Amino acid sequence: MTVLPPLQHAIGNLIFPAAFLITVVVITLNQGYLPAAPDTLWVIGPSVAVAVTGTLALSYNRSRVFFVVCGLAFSLLMHHQVMVDGLNEFIIVGLVPANILLITIFRERGFFTFTGLMRMALILFEFAIALYWIGLQQPLPNVLLDPLAPPFDLVLSYSPFHQTATLMALFSLLGCIFVMGFDNTPISQGLTTALLGMVIGYGLPVDKAWEIFAMSSSLYLGAAIVRDSYNMAYRDELTGLPHRRALNEQFLALGSRYSLAMLDVDHFKKFNDNHGHDIGDQVLQMVAMKIRQVGGGGKAFRYGGEEFSVVFPRMSKEDAFYYLDEVRKAIQNYEMVVRDKPREEEEIGRIARQHRKRGSFRTAGEKVSVTISIGVADRSTDGPEAEDVLKAADKALYSAKKGGRNKVVVTD
Ligand code: GH3
Ligand code: MG
Ligand code: MG
Repeated sequence: MTVLPPLQHAIGNLIFPAAFLITVVVITLNQGYLPAAPDTLWVIGPSVAVAVTGTLALSYNRSRVFFVVCGLAFSLLMHHQVMVDGLNEFIIVGLVPANILLITIFRERGFFTFTGLMRMALILFEFAIALYWIGLQQPLPNVLLDPLAPPFDLVLSYSPFHQTATLMALFSLLGCIFVMGFDNTPISQGLTTALLGMVIGYGLPVDKAWEIFAMSSSLYLGAAIVRDSYNMAYRDELTGLPHRRALNEQFLALGSRYSLAMLDVDHFKKFNDNHGHDIGDQVLQMVAMKIRQVGGGGKAFRYGGEEFSVVFPRMSKEDAFYYLDEVRKAIQNYEMVVRDKPREEEEIGRIARQHRKRGSFRTAGEKVSVTISIGVADRSTDGPEAEDVLKAADKALYSAKKGGRNKVVVTD
């Protein structure tokens, strides 16, 4: 896999977090224009935000977010209590971000699994070391407190932090952005944003900046859990398209004029038998991408298996036919290059052996293609309820299949 596209992807994903962080920076810098909040709010606010997100993470089984929230909670405690010179900064700007990077790299493994418990132990161990150091009341080793040394002093001369903390924050941030390129989920985005928020909040030389950022970073993480759960409930993992539940919800929002199409890949069972399930999955991703690009304002859904639906608000079936036929042609003409999938080499080998006799097996780099059949109906002629229209579209699809496949059929 090349590095550049994922990085571009990551930078694209940073637009929302960046807008969020910039908004919070602007608010923080312009606090003077706002009514003054009582001091207790700045103790209670961040703690409540951390508690809310922590509870969300626990109840939605998002251990990674929970661990980061623990880091945030610990940072809040440190901020108020630690007196050892530079320790707060080392924990908040160095140690916690490094842990966030580690957690961003981790897969979700739950709480009470062996992996989950090991992670918890690691975090508790770090807390224990920090508390032990505080108890000792010893100054930190010089290396942690040194200012930036050449050549870093040139590059990082604007950093308000000591050398080690600055480098750890920077390395962690770049690491998180890199990981986001490959793992485009609200959770990774939320973790990276929380990291940035903590560092900015701690570095801004403005009153209450840390409290404001600790609070908003926790809330952003909470929102990330909600967004992730929404995606899980409404989006299909393989194709990224919304699935049937979202379609049912879309039905509620349809007006009095619309068309519905049902699309089904032709002879897909045979395709899977010939090429293997993994290549079948790659083809479904390609088909989904083409259907998503449908014109005329059509919205694509994965109905289930190798079946898709498209909703055209405010459009007759005759007009929808035109756009659907474009999709059909685009899929027919697309020769998909099979992606290299080293992890599944073993399975490819197995399928290759099974199909060698037939000579039909394809491996990475070779080209495959499929066709789809489509049935389309609209509300004005096929029924008052979306379910009726969908049934009519399904019937038309059946006619398309009977009529030789690779075609669009409109109900009469
Ligand atoms: P027809 O042209 O009549 O539609 O024939 P078909 O073989 O496509 O029809 P059928 O509905 O019998 O087969 C659908 C196949 O799609 C069966 C199943 O193995 C395959 N399929 C369903 N979901 C997936 C998936 O997520 N990945 C892969 N690789 N295959 C899937
Ligand atoms: Mg089917
Ligand atoms: Mg099929």
